[in-house]
Parts: sequence; structure tokens; C-alpha cells
Amino acid sequence: MHKFDYLQPKTLKSALALLEKHGDDARAIAGGTSLLIMMRQRLLMPKVVVSLADIPRFDRVTYSAKHGLTIGAGARHRDIELSPVIKRHYPLLHETFHKVAQPRIRNMGTIGGNLAAGDPLTDPGASLIALDAEVVLSSRAGKRVLKLDEFFVDYYQTALNPGELISEIHVPPPSRAHWAHIKFTPRSIEDFATVGVALTLRMKNGICDDIRLGLNSVASTIVRASRAENILRGQEITEARLQEMGEIAATEVDPVDDNRGSAAYKREMVKVLVPRAAREALRRAS
Ligand SMILES: Cc1cc2nc3c(=O)[nH]c(=O)nc-3n(C[C@H](O)[C@H](O)[C@H](O)COP(=O)(O)OP(=O)(O)OC[C@H]3O[C@@H](n4cnc5c(N)ncnc54)[C@H](O)[C@@H]3O)c2cc1C
Repeated sequence: MHKFDYLQPKTLKSALALLEKHGDDARAIAGGTSLLIMMRQRLLMPKVVVSLADIPRFDRVTYSAKHGLTIGAGARHRDIELSPVIKRHYPLLHETFHKVAQPRIRNMGTIGGNLAAGDPLTDPGASLIALDAEVVLSSRAGKRVLKLDEFFVDYYQTALNPGELISEIHVPPPSRAHWAHIKFTPRSIEDFATVGVALTLRMKNGICDDIRLGLNSVASTIVRASRAENILRGQEITEARLQEMGEIAATEVDPVDDNRGSAAYKREMVKVLVPRAAREALRRAS
């Protein structure tokens, strides 16, 4: 490992000041599960590493029926998995975070680090997109809020500007009671997904009133499959429409060949897993 300075600010304000001061030479570190691998492989060689571990209440999880859920960027996967309020009101998040890696990683990795890494193989982004989540980005200049599906830009690239941190993730009050999450991992349950599908939907008088579909591991970013959603939105759900939804979702992804499968295989799995997720969601309501 190359030599670097390790700074431990005690407030968000001083962390932001340090990141601004050191510019391209600096990197934030939260759980370190992703950053340290990149540093050991010398893909990243920051001169200054700014720890977010001592920022007060950076891992806070709060919920109100009116405003929904706010998750501090420093909340660890395990905090989110085990939060009673999340289990009760956002079972999709409970299930998703339960499936992230294994407990050793879940005890260290944070939601902020996960999203900021911009890795399309990771799980939380698709479920958060299916729940209409927003990220709050803080810098010395102030705050801005982005819908999560606008945050992911390309492989390992996000809308974060230099000197900016994710400070919070906001999830609106639950409005689509039906949900499903499929992490398709034929190799090992602890592996990254070959294909990941997260779906929420609301039924009204036998019609699909609203729906969100997030997919991971099938493109250069985590994606929202809006055209596939439109096949069901405002319609009665029939087997023919579910099949069509899967076909359309497969046109919204751009997978690559890798050790988890060929691009063609992953596209076929999208066609199978998207309708399966919708069927599962219909059987289950939170
Ligand atoms: C063996 C292994 C298995 C894994 N399996 C899975 C899996 O199955 N599913 C899955 O989803 N993920 C998986 N991961 C990835 C893991 O979830 C992420 O690495 C973790 O969430 C990253 O969080 P962290 O706090 O450790 O980030 P760090 O490693 O500390 O940081 C990652 C990046 O984010 C930046 N950063 C950190 N916090 C912030 C912030 N608040 N604002 C802006 N930038 C920030 C850092 O500068 C760095 O660039 C796995 C990782 C490993 C090592």
C-alpha cells in the first residue's frame, strides 16, 4: 500500500472543508470495503484519506409516516437490515440489505459508500430506485438533492462533484404495497448478482395503478426500466403483459460478458426474472 495521510474530522463541515482543500489528492473513506481494494490494487492512490467514521449522527435512521425514511450515508448495511422501522415499513430494503455480501461486509460497508462507488453490480441502488429514493449531496457550497436514477452516470461514475459527499438518502413514505426483490446468483449467495431485479407496484380496482422497476448488474449503471414499467401502468395485469414487460426490459439493459455469464444469457434472464418479480410482488404486499 502506498503512503497517505489519514485525517479524522469530527464534523461533516470539517470533512467537507478537508475534501475541498485537498481536491483530487483526497478520497473519503467510510467502511473501506470498496476503497481499500482499489487502493491495494493501485487503481486509486489518494495522498489524503478523509475518514467519515467520526461524524456525529452520520448513521442515523429516522422515519415518519408523513416524511418517510431518512438514512444517514454512514449507516452500515447491517444497521439497515436490522432496523425495525425499515423491516416494518420498507420490507424491500430489509430483504435487499440482508442479501448484500455476507455479515463481515455488511458490518463494515455503508449505504453512502455503496452508492458513491457507482458499481453497477451492487444491490441497494435498484431497490432504492424502485422506492423513488433521493440522495442528498452536501458540499461547502450547500446541499442539492437528486433522484437516485439520475445519480448513476456510468461504470464507477456518479453525479458527485469534487468536494461533495452523500450526506443522506431519503425514501418517500411507502405508496406501492406490492414488492419483490430477486438477486439471481447461480454461483454463490454471497456473490454479486448476475442479474438483480427490484420492483414495487400498487393495485387499484384490479388495475396496476403505479409501478417502479430497478435493475442491477445488467448495464454500466444501475437502471430504472421505465418503458417496461409502462407496459403494466394503468393496465390489468395479464400473463401476456408480463411477458411483454420482460421483453421490453431486456431492451433497456446493456449487459457485458463476464465470469457471471454472457451478455446474451443475462438479457435472457432479464426476460425471465422481470415477470417473475411482478408475479411475486402480486402475491405479496407489505
Ligand atoms: C467481498 C465483497 C463482497 C461484496 N458483495 C456485495 C454485494 O453482494 N452487494 C453489494 O451491493 N455490494 C457488495 N460489495 C460492495 C460493498 O457493499 C460496498 O463496497 C460497500 O457498501 C461500500 O461502502 P463502504 O462504506 O465500505 O465504502 P468505502 O470503501 O469506504 O468507499 C467507497 C467509495 O465511496 C466513497 N464514499 C464513501 N462514503 C461516501 C459518502 N458518504 N459520500 C461520497 N463518497 C463516499 C469513497 O471515497 C470511495 O470512493 C462487496 C464488497 C466486497 C469487498
